[in-house]
Amino acid sequence: MGKLVQNSRNRTGDQKMIIPIRCWTCGKPIAHLWEKYKERTEKGENPKTVMDELSIERYCCRTMFLGQVDLLEIVSEFRKL
Ligand SMILES: [Zn+2]
Repeated sequence: MGKLVQNSRNRTGDQKMIIPIRCWTCGKPIAHLWEKYKERTEKGENPKTVMDELSIERYCCRTMFLGQVDLLEIVSEFRKL
């Protein structure tokens, strides 16, 4: 059990991130911003600052970015089953 969880975490790191084209709530196109967001946060920038500068202002859109990792972990759990 514990081993399975660990494996899925490692696998998530190697997976290509998938983000919806648009925010599910307000319909703002966000896919083109995802690469920039990912690039900058991986370099250690604060996600909040990056989102501000990419003009991701609404909370619903921010959730799309911030929730992405958790969502992927859930998805990868399903894939294994
Ligand atoms: Zn939105």
